[in-house]
Amino acid sequence: MQEQKTPKKPLIYYAIIAFTALMLLNTFIFPTLLQRDITETDYSAFLTHLDENKIQKFELDDQTIFYVAEVEGEEKLFTTGAMPDPDLTNRLKAAGVEFTRIVPQEASPIVSFIASWVLPLLIFFFLGRLLMGYMQKKTGGANAMTFGKSNAKVYVQAQTGKTFEDVAGQDEAKEALNEIVDFLHNPGRYAGIGARLPKGALLVGPPGTGKTLLAQAVAGEANVPFFSISGSEFVEMFVGMGAAKVRDLFKQAGDKAPCIVFIDEIDTIGKKRDGAGGFSGGNDEREQTLNQLLTEMDGFDGRKGVVILAATNRPDSLDKALLRPGRFDRRIPVELPDLAGREAILKVHSQNVKIDPDVDCLSIARATAGASGADLANMINEAALRAVRLGRERVIQSDLEESVEVILAGHQRKNAAIQPKEKEIIAYHEIGHALVASCQTDSAPVHKITIIPRTSGALGYTMQVAENDQVLMSREEIFNKIVTYTGGRAAEEIIFNTMTSGAANDIEQATKLARSMITRFGMSEHFDMMALETTSNVYLGGESQLLVSAQTAAAIDDEVLGLIRKAHQKASEILRSNIDKLHELSKFLLEKETITGEEFNNILQCDA
Ligand code: ADP
Ligand code: MG
Ligand code: ZN
Repeated sequence: MQEQKTPKKPLIYYAIIAFTALMLLNTFIFPTLLQRDITETDYSAFLTHLDENKIQKFELDDQTIFYVAEVEGEEKLFTTGAMPDPDLTNRLKAAGVEFTRIVPQEASPIVSFIASWVLPLLIFFFLGRLLMGYMQKKTGGANAMTFGKSNAKVYVQAQTGKTFEDVAGQDEAKEALNEIVDFLHNPGRYAGIGARLPKGALLVGPPGTGKTLLAQAVAGEANVPFFSISGSEFVEMFVGMGAAKVRDLFKQAGDKAPCIVFIDEIDTIGKKRDGAGGFSGGNDEREQTLNQLLTEMDGFDGRKGVVILAATNRPDSLDKALLRPGRFDRRIPVELPDLAGREAILKVHSQNVKIDPDVDCLSIARATAGASGADLANMINEAALRAVRLGRERVIQSDLEESVEVILAGHQRKNAAIQPKEKEIIAYHEIGHALVASCQTDSAPVHKITIIPRTSGALGYTMQVAENDQVLMSREEIFNKIVTYTGGRAAEEIIFNTMTSGAANDIEQATKLARSMITRFGMSEHFDMMALETTSNVYLGGESQLLVSAQTAAAIDDEVLGLIRKAHQKASEILRSNIDKLHELSKFLLEKETITGEEFNNILQCDA
């Protein structure tokens, strides 16, 4: 919002400008300010002036004569070179000429004062300011004179402009935060009963689920000062600066209580202090900052009404000390939205665009399982962009459907040159997936099949949309999913008696699922309920680590392979027994390029 641009011109640039300006002033401006016009004459003219008794003042400066003479009724300043003339002094005396200092003429004491003192001072002052500003930007906003002042922005109610109404779904999180807001409004009620509110609450969840948004909404609801700072702002170039910032932030907050302090992305400073996963030697700065934060959180009185909110998507990497009671003892999960949540988020964001009243948010929500709030907000915007591109005044359903696909698979590559033979293989591959999916029980209905390539690299895809979100998956369902993944390759093999590179992504997905069945879900005969793998960083995609010996790892690989092989065979069987439908549907898809689930089902009628 208020980012300052760092100057691209180096410091020397400013120094040169200032120096040049000073020189120009000295050579041109000052002298003319100080001196009258001087007329140069020759010595004989000087003597004439003397003889005519016109000279009033005289000065001999080294080998130069200055004199003031009255010429044509006007006093003028003349100059000429001196000659060896020993009698001159007497003659001047006789003429009653005043011996005085003429040059430099002290034009006015004020001007000379300004010229000799004030101007240089001003110039150095401004040069100094420039230098400071430059250094400040270089050192990331830290003022050299006020080391360690935090630049926490103070938000008041009106400034975030967000309220709980802007946050769709997330009802549990809102309820927990509402309690905090209520406490800040009338602390007396809580104190009366002896209840103590947690000092800190930690918002945890995957990226884009609205953690920052929720904190801003709290500020909007709370009517109290709201200090917001991001964890990365504490990480400074100099050791000790971050700690000083923490101190300053809490001092400011203490003065303004009741108030809320919000630390976004707290994992940047709150990482575990031990070896693995944390930071090792050489990063004293972070450790000091964290220690200062812990001290400050212990130090202040919870009843005063300072509530600390923090957000992170890496809760497992946080230092244990941060999470103990008395610090961030309350954890508020902000999870990916469910079906109803997604519908609500779509509705909230569609208020910002002109949208057709017939648009069905629920069907879009169904097609976007696993999308975060940020993804959904982005989809609405993509849909609006598409509506503009197509010259429409309003966003309609097809805009939204297309934007879902854009977010999932990238834009269409309409003019990608694909050979007819390849196009045919792609059509059979996709129908392979769809046919296998719909001939099995418990798999989500086919919603759309397309063979228009996308910028993500997908040459075509089959979209399945479930009626409802599922929280549990049975062993059979997962296995059926793997069978569906193998359906594309199986169709290629059966029809063209060859295989292509087009199944690379399917292979990856199928293997991931099969491996999870064995190592994480305990769905293998051999290993029973033994934990074979740990997953860390669940909110950021998850990184898994095998916990087992090399022999066991090899045994796991065998099981995974067995599972995939079984699935591949099952897919082939399904396709062989429905080979007429496979041909018919593929021809149809090849001709139309995109078909809907309805068209697909009409041709299929699996039970027939
Ligand atoms: P986080 O901090 O969890 O990574 P943000 O709070 O920055 O995510 O959310 C990013 C954007 O996604 C928000 O600005 C908002 O437009 C949208 N968004 C996320 N969750 C919601 C929600 N529950 N309701 C409405 N909009 C949301
Ligand atoms: Mg955020
Ligand atoms: Zn495929």
